[in-house]
Amino acid sequence: MSEAKMIDGKAFAAGLRARVAVEVARLSEAHGLKPGLAVVLVGENPASQVYVRNKARQTEETGMASFEHRLPAETTEADLLALVRRLNEDPAVHGILVQLPLPDQISEPAVIDAIDPAKDVDGFHVLNAGRLMTGARGARAPLVACTPRGCLMLLKDTLGDLTGLEAVVIGRSNIVGKPMAHLLLGENCTVTVAHSRTRDLPAVARRADILVAAVGRPGMVRADWIKPGATVIDVGINRIEGEGGKTRIVGDVDTQGAKAVAGAITPVPGGVGPMTIAVLLSNTVVAACRQAGLEPLSF
Ligand code: NDP
Repeated sequence: MSEAKMIDGKAFAAGLRARVAVEVARLSEAHGLKPGLAVVLVGENPASQVYVRNKARQTEETGMASFEHRLPAETTEADLLALVRRLNEDPAVHGILVQLPLPDQISEPAVIDAIDPAKDVDGFHVLNAGRLMTGARGARAPLVACTPRGCLMLLKDTLGDLTGLEAVVIGRSNIVGKPMAHLLLGENCTVTVAHSRTRDLPAVARRADILVAAVGRPGMVRADWIKPGATVIDVGINRIEGEGGKTRIVGDVDTQGAKAVAGAITPVPGGVGPMTIAVLLSNTVVAACRQAGLEPLSF
C-alpha cells in the first residue's frame, strides 16, 4: 500500500486567508465596512503571547482592524467583564476573542457568557454551541469553533462528500471534540465520541473512516489503531523534549507509523494548527457582515 497523502493545512490556510483578504477589500470598497477583531490576553502565558501576536499580525495582513488588549495577570473578573462589555458596545469591533486559559481568579464560563454571541468568533458561547448542536442554518447559523471548523474544511477538501462515513473523534472538550462531533454529524457521518473512559479505544478507533485525535497525548494513536486507508486528523499540539535539549511539537498521532496505514493524514506542525487562525479571520468577516446586515460569504 502506498504512503498516506499528507494534508497540507498550511497551504489551505494560506488560501483561506487570501480569500478573506479579497472579501475584506470588497467590503471596504462596496460598503465602507472594515471588519475588526479584538483579542484580549490576561497575564503572560508564553504560548498565549505567541498566539495573540500571530492573530494580530494575520488580522492586519488581511486588511482588517486588530485591537489588542493586554491585561496584567492579577486582573479581576469584574475588570475583564467590564472590558468585554465595552467591546460588545464598540461598533468598530465585530469579533471578540478572549485568549484561554485565564488566571484562576477569573471564571472562564462567566467571561464566555458575557461576550455578545454575534461577536463570539471563537464560537464558544452557549448560543453558538447550541445552534451548532441543533443544526441551525441561514441567518441563525452559528459562529463555529475555529479548530474543528478548520478540521472539517480539510476533511471536505480531501474527501469531498462525507455522507455515510464512520467518524471517530477522540476527545470531548467543548472547544474541539464536541463541536467536531456535531460538525461531522451535520455532514451525515456516523459519529462516535471517545474519551478517557472509552473501553478498548484502539478497537473503536479502527472502525473509523475519519479519525480525529484531539487529546493532548504525544503519539497516543498508533498505526495499529488506524483502519487502512482512513483519513486521520491530528489536532494535538504537544511540546516534547527533542534532540540537543531543544523542544519540538508533536501531535496525538504517531505520524511516522500512521503514514504507512492511513489514506491521508495531517502533519504536526503544518496540518490543523495553521487552520485555526485562518478560520478565526473568516469568522470575523462573517460576524462583521451579519452585524452590518449584509449576506456573508460562506468561506
Ligand atoms: P482537553 O484537555 O480539554 O481534552 C482532552 C480530551 O482528551 C478529553 O476529552 C479527555 O477525556 C481525552 N483524553 C485524555 N486522555 C485520554 C486517553 N488516554 N484516552 C482517550 N481520551 C483521552 O484538550 P483540548 O480538546 O483543548 O485539546 C486537545 C489537543 O488539541 C491538545 O493537544 C491541544 O493542544 C490541541 N489543540 C490544538 C489546537 C490547534 O490546532 N489550533 C486548538 C485547540 C487544541 P475526558 O473528557 O474523559 O477527560
